Amino acid sequence: MANSSGFSAFLKGRCPQCRTGSIFKGGLFSRNFKDVHERCGHCNVKYEQEPGFFWGAMYFSYALIVGLLIFLSVLMFSLYDDPSLLLLCVVIIGVSLPLTPFLMRLSRLLLIYVAAPYRKFKKELQG
Ligand SMILES: [Zn+2]
Repeated sequence: MANSSGFSAFLKGRCPQCRTGSIFKGGLFSRNFKDVHERCGHCNVKYEQEPGFFWGAMYFSYALIVGLLIFLSVLMFSLYDDPSLLLLCVVIIGVSLPLTPFLMRLSRLLLIYVAAPYRKFKKELQG
């Protein structure tokens, strides 16, 4: 059964049900950083619940990028009196572009973990 906490499993990219099987095929810095296993290697739970399931991760990705943009804008306006638009664009693009793989993985993880309780509920309804 679960050998780590839910938050620890989330940070490690482990299955939300058994917290053991890895969700992603490759590491954060590998070529297939965003590829998700079809099923958990430990408990056999299916990660992609329906075709196009991971399109929903775009909502999380959007929220994360907007949050990062707001954070960087507030930081720049607190560090500089009146930063130029060019400086803002360079900092925002310079910080958010390298974080894209991390944010993609994080948004998929969030989607899988948010949808996990509904999967259990659906399973209970089906008997
Ligand atoms: Zn599992």
